[in-house]
Amino acid sequence: MKKSFTTRSLHVPFPKNDAHRALDMPVYESVAFEFETAEDMVDNFSGKLPAHVYSRTSNPTVEYFEQKMKALTGAHHALAVASGMAAISNSILAICKSGDNIISGNQLFGHTHALLNQTLHNYGLETRFVDTTNAEAVEQLVDENTRAIYFETVTNPQLEIADISKLAAIARKYNLVLIADSTVTPPVVFNGRFHGIDIEVMSTTKHISGGGTSFGGVILDHGNYNWALNPNVKPFSKKFGKDAFIARLRKNYFRNTGGAMSAHTAHYQILGLDMLELRFDRSYENCMKLGEFLVGHPLVGKVTYPGLKNSDGYHLATKQFEGKPGTVLSFDLESEAACFKFMNHLHLIRRATNLNDNKSLIIHPWSTIYAEFTEEERMAMKIRKTAIRLSVGIEGAADLIEDIESALQSLHKSD
Ligand SMILES: *Cc1c(COP(=O)(O)O)cnc(C)c1O
Repeated sequence: MKKSFTTRSLHVPFPKNDAHRALDMPVYESVAFEFETAEDMVDNFSGKLPAHVYSRTSNPTVEYFEQKMKALTGAHHALAVASGMAAISNSILAICKSGDNIISGNQLFGHTHALLNQTLHNYGLETRFVDTTNAEAVEQLVDENTRAIYFETVTNPQLEIADISKLAAIARKYNLVLIADSTVTPPVVFNGRFHGIDIEVMSTTKHISGGGTSFGGVILDHGNYNWALNPNVKPFSKKFGKDAFIARLRKNYFRNTGGAMSAHTAHYQILGLDMLELRFDRSYENCMKLGEFLVGHPLVGKVTYPGLKNSDGYHLATKQFEGKPGTVLSFDLESEAACFKFMNHLHLIRRATNLNDNKSLIIHPWSTIYAEFTEEERMAMKIRKTAIRLSVGIEGAADLIEDIESALQSLHKSD
């Protein structure tokens, strides 16, 4: 029988025996690593003697975090980087070049949208934004310069879910790389390898770091894609075969753009990963309880959480994410003013913009994250003035419900 996620995470062996037989991976906070002889140095630089040399390119503590991610997901390669944005930018850079285009979901994490629409656009990479829940519309955008389809497993804050099997079929048909940002659905409930995902990127800052402890990102190559089919990675595929993507990524982008994860960060990420399943399950249970409470409440309008039966994404959430589509929900109140009043009367739930902290966090997306967009743009992105996003933490469910109920009751009072 397959062992549980937590059991497997706790017992991933170290890549090398520790000199002191440390039980937990030590924090190897050293910039450089020494060679015994000058000849060893030569062998290392020519690729014959693999070893850690300089921590911007690899580090023992970071390597152990990568090994754990690899062991837990069965990915062909895992590369840890400094943040979720570093994971996204590095993988797209390694797959595309100027003159290429990618097709991306139009509901995206804000900075990903800015990366594609502004930063990479300035270097000649075009992004074609589309509703990825509409597979026909996605297929219509493919041309001979398209290299990848990019989407988020559950969009935030709209909480929409694309049918991944349809996107994977289009990617296969046109030899495109299918890239998924699975930040919201961590590896305890989602493994892209079994859904035809080629490259999975995630911000480990969120669920994995263990409560907002540190920034991190991971790039997984699931070994599903034949890299000889991508004109940019192809030159590497002769020498590196199945390892072509990671070779190009490490040599041309990761090393040269300097987005390495630090050893201290890797230490936090390792601890967070070991407790991921416990924290995620607790947050999910809370999310369901709060969702059910809110659905029945007379002062609350639409409640969005695709884990709830009768919600739009329920079928796909069950098929793709074991019925646990993350731990973020949203709900509507009567007006923007009611949202603000409600938020200001919370005592336990924090007004903050992170996701998947151990603490429950609340935000009014319309007036904050999306404030730089026009009203029409916000409406096109399905952002509503009356909606609140709640990232559900691991507190006691009854305590959270009490906090929400008393803040809702404040809406009746004048103050
Ligand atoms: C937070 C987030 C990112 C960016 O991650 P950072 O670690 O903040 O760089 C990317 N995608 C999604 C879905 C996120 O929630």
